[in-house]
Amino acid sequence: MGALLEEGRQRLLGKTDQPSQEAQILLSHSSGLTHAQIIANPDHSLSEKSTADFTGLIDRRVNGEPIAYLCGAREFWSLKLTVSKDVLIPRPETELLVERTLIRMALWESPVVADLGTGSGAVALALAKESPPTRIIATDRSDDALGIARQNSQQLGINNVEFYCGRWFDALGPKLKSRINIIASNPPYVMEGDPHLLQGDLPWEPRQALISGRDGLAAFGTIISEAPRWLTPSGWLLLEHGPAQQDHVRVLMEEAGFLEITGHSDLAGLPRVTEGQLPPPCG
Ligand code: GLN
Repeated sequence: MGALLEEGRQRLLGKTDQPSQEAQILLSHSSGLTHAQIIANPDHSLSEKSTADFTGLIDRRVNGEPIAYLCGAREFWSLKLTVSKDVLIPRPETELLVERTLIRMALWESPVVADLGTGSGAVALALAKESPPTRIIATDRSDDALGIARQNSQQLGINNVEFYCGRWFDALGPKLKSRINIIASNPPYVMEGDPHLLQGDLPWEPRQALISGRDGLAAFGTIISEAPRWLTPSGWLLLEHGPAQQDHVRVLMEEAGFLEITGHSDLAGLPRVTEGQLPPPCG
């Protein structure tokens, strides 16, 4: 096993920043052994099937396929989520959106919360995990993505998230108009042709989860302009965006009538989440 691991590591050199760690993850995934078992038993030989599986995974990784898709899982907010090529791989910086949304959720006893464009369900399920009595609505225009999100909610034993298929607010029934207290979204916000799309895991991820028109702002335009019709008075809208998009998002929120607009930076110090509140009820 030690020699196989070393061979895998060698093949990953120059293909990834973490060849040792990734070779171990893939060996663990193909053998069913823990990292500790692998390290402690270098002379143990693997079955033919596990060896072939490992070699196949290393081939795919050398070809650039994301480690999360190869293992079918990614951790987010301490939740082990199933992921497939139908969903964006949850990013650590999106935990900032969860943190900020939880702070706003605490303003209500039992808020109604919507996560638009849920993908794997990462944001909705993290929110649900932290606040079980809440009603959480998660939408996506992709049926395949919703299949993964539903699977994640079942695996995690979370049963207070409702899933609806459709593009942004089209997924919601008319009964929800003016009924949602908080909308959180990590929509696509990369612009067409952005060189970033050719790097790392991005070439393998669903285009519609990443790209939003020529300027990367199309989804923000729709979500921000329509959100006031779905939110209650004093309701909050929280959006993840690219580091250079904060000013655009702020202006769109101002135009839509949001107040208290505030931006928040991720652990790298980059502005990544902007939130705003609708005015309180009249009178
Ligand atoms: N944060 C992602 C990236 O730039 C994009 C995710 C998104 O468009 N919502 O890699």
